Amino acid sequence: MELKVLFKYTDDPDQYKMDTYISHGGYKAWEKVLKEIKPDEVIEIVKQSGVRGRGGAGFPAGVKWGFVPKDSPKPKYLVCNGDESEPGTCKDRVLMENDPHRVVEGMAISSYAIGAHHAFIYIRGEFVFPAERMRGAIEEAYEKGFLGKDILGTGYDLEMTVHTGGGAYICGEETALLNSLEGKPGMSRIRPPFPAIEGLYASPTVVNNVETLANVPEIINRGADWYAGMGTEKSKGTRIFCLSGHVKKPGNYELELGTPLRHLIYDLGGGILDDKELKAVIPGGSSTPVLTPDQIDVPMDFESVAEIGSMLGSCGVIVMHEDTCMVWAATRLAYFYMHESCGKCTPCRMGTQWMYQILSRIESGEGRPEDMDHLLSACDNIEGQTLCPLGDAAAMPVRSFAKTFREEFEYHIEHKKCMVQNSFPSFGQ
Ligand code: SF4
Repeated sequence: MELKVLFKYTDDPDQYKMDTYISHGGYKAWEKVLKEIKPDEVIEIVKQSGVRGRGGAGFPAGVKWGFVPKDSPKPKYLVCNGDESEPGTCKDRVLMENDPHRVVEGMAISSYAIGAHHAFIYIRGEFVFPAERMRGAIEEAYEKGFLGKDILGTGYDLEMTVHTGGGAYICGEETALLNSLEGKPGMSRIRPPFPAIEGLYASPTVVNNVETLANVPEIINRGADWYAGMGTEKSKGTRIFCLSGHVKKPGNYELELGTPLRHLIYDLGGGILDDKELKAVIPGGSSTPVLTPDQIDVPMDFESVAEIGSMLGSCGVIVMHEDTCMVWAATRLAYFYMHESCGKCTPCRMGTQWMYQILSRIESGEGRPEDMDHLLSACDNIEGQTLCPLGDAAAMPVRSFAKTFREEFEYHIEHKKCMVQNSFPSFGQ
């Protein structure tokens, strides 16, 4: 069953307009917070709700806000991460396009909670329409007095700015995003210091994902207990699952955390395309380890997916049926991460190239007997050895494909053709 909290009104074609958003209860939470709730209390409510980051890492949002030092003489910033670069993930785009005021309201409340007077939303360059919708919503919010100086006569000031990026996967990583926002190349920073202490312009900064912040108005309106009542013991609320690949009804589905993966694929997604057999599922965006058909009864929450060796990540669920060549799929993923590596650290810069070279050799029928060992060794020397999570993101799926479907890789090497398609799948860049 879908449980629409964030997607309650996204099918309304006028939801992006201020009047429609207000008619659905919009900006009530913002007014309530400004007039009745102290910033520390807002942080406490969000902590109590248990909402965790929706970008992939799943860090508790309220705890992150609490890291911002109150006595810092520097300005504080709130940055909404709308880069959404993980392949298989397309939920933030829909929120920004169809319900942009929900994002603006969430950003405003979060800014107030951490004491920020300037909030930015960083949107990937290809998202021209979502950026247009966000600009329109922010403009309307200024006109209505929800942003700007002395908001609703409370003395609180907040400016909000849309910033569009150049379209690089790495800019979804928060420190690379901050560099890009400052006008520098999008490369990750060494941590510590963490952004909460030294983020944008070397000032305390909170970076939160679009979906995370979109939850905040609802939490204020309906209470922390209501939110914490959804989901599982440690994974609260709903998530927007982006279902793609070989299913009959791909799309975004908002579900309570803990909903079995099988229900998403077979009941909501209509089952496997052309009624073929399911072969593999990537559960949380392209960087997460692949699952097999015997694992799809897993409840989709952070802990349960981790227990079976993968990650909930950004909830980009990619389904592959029996005709999919796993060597081809791994090669395609390796190419993507090689292309997106920012090049700052050697294990990622060189390791992603080695992984791609070995995989494309195996895939095209030129594999050598020692290639599997070399491939897994490259994974070992990338994972946990890099400055930012891109290195792990590149190695984890390759390792899981190579281990789970090793027989297919070895068949490619030995027989110089694909065991699934009995030929070479057309792999072109
Ligand atoms: Fe750049 Fe990759 Fe190192 Fe991240 S892991 S800093 S993307 S080279």
